[in-house]
This record gives sequence, structure tokens and C-alpha cells, in this order.
Amino acid sequence: MEEGLEGEEYLFKVVLIGDSAVGKSNLLSRFARNEFDPNNKATIGVEFLTQELEIDGKMIKAQIWDTAGQERFRAVTSAYYRGAVGALIVYDISRKTTFESVKRWLDELTTHCETTVARMLVGNKCDLEDLRAVSLEEGKNLAEEQGLFFMETSALNSTNVQTAFEIVIREIYNNVSRKVL
Ligand code: GDP
Repeated sequence: MEEGLEGEEYLFKVVLIGDSAVGKSNLLSRFARNEFDPNNKATIGVEFLTQELEIDGKMIKAQIWDTAGQERFRAVTSAYYRGAVGALIVYDISRKTTFESVKRWLDELTTHCETTVARMLVGNKCDLEDLRAVSLEEGKNLAEEQGLFFMETSALNSTNVQTAFEIVIREIYNNVSRKVL
């Protein structure tokens, strides 16, 4: 990456991973379009959405990839990970099995991406407090153990969605800046 110039644009690829139906598509549509889709249908079509944001006066384009349902086969292809510099590993706070899968998703990420990839653990559906099966502490502890950022979100009511993506994108920007220096 070249030295930052005023008005320079950056394009970062960020991937969403995690078990099926944890809310990856809805997190993406909430972030990029401020929309929520209540239908419980399989993820369709969209490969990625691009969202622009400004950090330190630089225009950043985040190209955020959704699995388009590939994860139903418990893995996604190496093409999906190619060139990714950030990842959100998502589980559903109301389904323990999705939390138990996080380590497997991290292993897959490590196999395909450099260790410098900015990583955030995301406990989605925090609006479902009555159905909570994974405590806030469990999420925090796993994130700490694995060296990840951590946040609980709700794509349904927008809680922390913007913040979660922005933290990852800012970390990527910091990583790029450090390499430039
Ligand atoms: P994906 O398979 O991981 O992409 O998951 P989807 O985004 O398709 O969401 C799966 C299901 O969970 C859908 O029925 C969504 O409406 C629902 N869902 C997604 N995010 C949330 C959330 O934050 N809260 C609640 N209550 N439901 C959600």
C-alpha cells in the first residue's frame, strides 16, 4: 500500500463467517443498507456489499462478503477468504452450538488468511435476552483467549452493528498504516 495522500481511497475486503442462521446476512444488510429481513430463508445471491466510510480523512471502501449459504456445508471455499484483511466471526447468543463452532471457524480463517487479519468475535441476536444460552462473560473470555475484538450485536434493533464493523475497519486501516511506516 502506498503512503497515504489526501483524498486517497482504500479498498479492504472483510469476510463474515459463522454457522448458518446466526444473522450474517442481516448484519451486512443492517450495516450497508440499514435494513433487516425477518424472513427465515436461506441467504440468497449477494456476494458482497460495499460501504464507504471516512477514517482520519481517508476514504475507506469496505467490501464486505457474505457466504451466500456456503457455510451450510460447514466450510467455505478458499476463494471466499482470498485477499481478506478483516473478519467478523459470528455466533447466535441464543444457540450454544453456534458458539461452540467459533474455534472451528477461527481455524479455517487461520488456514486461509495471514495472522494479521483483523478479527472480531460477534455475539449476535442480543435482543433475545430471554433465550440467552451464551453469557456475555463466555463471549468475552473466548475473545480474550483468542486475541479477538468482541461485541454483542443485534441486527434486529441495530445494537452495536455499526460499531462492530467500524472497529474492524479501523483496525485494518491501522495495520496498513503500520506497514507503511
Ligand atoms: P445467516 O444465515 O447467518 O446469514 O443468517 P440470516 O441473516 O439469514 O438470519 C437468520 C435468521 O435469524 C433470520 O430469521 C433473521 O431474521 C434472524 N436474525 C438475524 N439477526 C437477528 C437479530 O439480531 N435478532 C433476532 N432476534 N433475529 C435475528
